[in-house]
This record gives sequence, C-alpha cells and structure tokens, in this order.
Amino acid sequence: MNNLTAKFKEFKCFIEEKGSKKYMIGAVAAAAVVAVLSVCTLSTSYSLEIDGKKVGNVASKAVVTQALNEAQEVAEAASGLDVVSAYNTVEIKAVHSFENDFMTDEEVAAVIQEQVDWLTEGATLNVNNGEYKFSVATEAEAQAVLDKLKEGALANQGDATIKSVEFLEDVTVEAGNVKVDEIKTLAEVIAEVQAGKEAVKTHTVQKGESFWTVARNYDVTVSELQQLNPEVNPNRLKIGQVLNLNCLEPLINVVVVKEITVEESIAYATEYKETANLYRGETQVVKKGTNGKKMVTYEVKETSGAVVEKTTLNEIVISEPVSAVVNKGTKAVALSSRSGDGILNWPMSGKITSPYGTRSSGFHSGIDIGGKIGRGVYSAAGGKVVLASWYYAYGNCIVVDHGNGMKTRYAHLSAYKVKVGDTVERGQLIGLCGNTGRSTGPHLHFEVIVNGSTKNPINYLK
Ligand SMILES: [Zn+2]
Repeated sequence: MNNLTAKFKEFKCFIEEKGSKKYMIGAVAAAAVVAVLSVCTLSTSYSLEIDGKKVGNVASKAVVTQALNEAQEVAEAASGLDVVSAYNTVEIKAVHSFENDFMTDEEVAAVIQEQVDWLTEGATLNVNNGEYKFSVATEAEAQAVLDKLKEGALANQGDATIKSVEFLEDVTVEAGNVKVDEIKTLAEVIAEVQAGKEAVKTHTVQKGESFWTVARNYDVTVSELQQLNPEVNPNRLKIGQVLNLNCLEPLINVVVVKEITVEESIAYATEYKETANLYRGETQVVKKGTNGKKMVTYEVKETSGAVVEKTTLNEIVISEPVSAVVNKGTKAVALSSRSGDGILNWPMSGKITSPYGTRSSGFHSGIDIGGKIGRGVYSAAGGKVVLASWYYAYGNCIVVDHGNGMKTRYAHLSAYKVKVGDTVERGQLIGLCGNTGRSTGPHLHFEVIVNGSTKNPINYLK
C-alpha cells in the first residue's frame, strides 16, 4: 500500500464516523485533495486514558466500548459474579491533532484486559482500620469467617464456663463493592489470618523460671528455643537474661475469658525434731507427710490459646495436708578410733584394693576402693566442703570438714558434684569415681584425717 492510499483510507474512516458518505467520491483523482486535507487540517481523534494516564490514541469510541464489554464478560465468566462497574476510570477524550497513529483493536483490547479491574457487590473484612483487609463475596461470608475463628477458639475447652469471646483487634464487616479478582473464599481468608505475621518478641527471665518453662509458656519446643538463642546455655539461665522468641501471631486474635475449676494438691509441711540419737546431717522420717486436696476456680483469659491472665476466684479445701515429722541429728562426729565404731558411711561401693598403712611403695595414707569411672562417691558424714579441685598427686580431690577436728578426703575423681562452701549431708553424692592424678586405674582413694593426721578409715567406717 502506498502512502497516498493509506492517507485516503484513514480519511475515509474519519468521514464515515462522521456519519456521512456524501464526500466519498471514490475517484483516484480526489485522493490528492484528500491527502492535502488530511495533512493540512486538524482532524478529530480520541485519546484513551486510564486513571488519568494516557494509554494511546484510538480511532473511535466504539473500539474502547467494545473492548470494555468484552473484558467485563471475561471477568464475569471467570468469577461467576455480576460486575457492577470498572474499578478504574476509563476515559475517551476527543482531541484535535495531526496524530493519526492509532492503536489497533487488538492493542486496545489487550490494554483494557490488563489494566482494568472490575468491581462487584461484596463485603470487606477490615482489621484495625485497614491494617489488613479481606474481600469476600458477601457480608454473610465475612461473618462466617469471624464465626469460624471464634468456633476454633472454643473447641477443646472441656467443661470450662465461657464468659466472653471477643477479638483483640478492631474487626468490622462492611458491605460494598470489591475488586472481582481480590475476592477470597472463607477457607483462604482463614488460612491467611492464621498464617499470621511473624512478630519478634523477647522474654526476660524471671526468678524460678527454666528454659523448659519458658518454652512451654510460649508454646515452642525446647530445641526451637535453643535454635533462637544459640548463645544461651539452657542449664545456666540467669534472672534478667533476655531470650528471643520468634512467634507467629495471627492477624486476628480471639480472646476467650472462661472459668475453670481444677483439683490441686496442697503440699504438706515438714516438722523437724532434733535428736541426739542421730549424727549431725542425718535425718530419719518418723511420719510421712500427705498432700491435701483443694478445688480451685480460676478466671482465665486466653489470647489465641495462650493464657494471658489467671485470677483465683474461689478455693475449697477438700482435705487438709498432714505434716511430715522428721528427726534431725545433733550428735557430733566422735573422734573415737575403736574398730568398727561405725561413725562414717562407706564413701563408694566396692572392695578395698589397697589397705591403709605401710606398703612397698611407701606409707599409704588411706584406703583404695576399686570402682569404675563414673561410680557415685558419697560423703562419709555431714559437713562442709573445704576443697574441690585438683590437688597434686590426688588429682581431682574433695575434702569434707565434719567438724570436731575430723575431715575426709576423696581422691582421683572424674567429676565434682559439689563446690567449696557447700554443706553436704551424710550419704550425699559429692563426686564420681575416676583415674586422675597419680593413679594406676579407676579407684577411690579415701582418707580419714583427725586433727591433721591420717587414721585408718576402717576403724571409722560402718
Ligand atoms: Zn590410695
């Protein structure tokens, strides 16, 4: 097609739209005139604008109207909903210009398809004045989402009396036009609400808390809590220490206030009675204690399943606890060295592999008791730990001062269960059997020291 014919065609198009054909001469001779007219005269064409932004020039309004109708039909067919109007503002403005570079019908259709959203009558579920918004098909559907969330919070509440169920957030349902392609199903909205947002929270360790109780209170596993706090030693929590908690928080939280009544035990007390019949540090149960029982009614406030407030409303004692009675020894460790006096407990189970006294390698200041590494070593009597560290040939060594000039020494240990300054009771685990220091195999070297001199332990042991 040569240039002249093209000009003629455009012109033809123009005059046709004007609704008149009387200028259509159809003569080739007229083409020249037409070309001149077309070039030299301002012609009326149309500018297509979507939301105030020019998209291009179109030859006629009809092209746009047609494209809009088609796009609307496509949107309706795809969603099964009735479209009310276009979400975007589509304008066709008449302009007078020399421009004759028009968009094709296909281009117009594609632009409309791509840029124009459609509105339908629906409802919006609005959280905290627009913090989160969900478009749903009907008001009833939005209400169903809220009912479902409450239902979920009330499941598994046992025989609790529910006092109120509310949302923590300001939640409203508004009927009105919503974008067709933003409409979600009930299941989709619930899933999004529950998937929630990731909130970075911290917890400051309080007195009496352990890694385990913190994990339980925030509904995370101990290993998850450990992963979030790689620097923290779970066995050495300090009061005031800050732990990281990365919790998923729902977009809508259900707050449930309920009343529950539970049976709880009342711990018994222990009455101690001093007796000279037992050594200091020794105890003897005279009467076992019994825990009491009570029915306690609490008002509990839960947010998304986590207890945030707990108030005691009422307590009824079913049975009182019965105190335990325990005799507590006051008798000091005697310094008698009569054989079999029995004032000291055996420090570790096992046989004597080397006795006290002179032997080929020199004087043996204690007894050796054969044992495996890790076997428990127990304090021979009540007292105070005065040494718990490496001590020359003794290796890892513990010395317990029993008062009255008597001490006992435990050598070659593999581990300590006490530290200097600890008060220990007779029979209390203080360390583990080992093979440290000058030692030819796992054993416990046990010494009895009276007023600074070692004595034959056999004379003191039970
Ligand atoms: Zn020894």
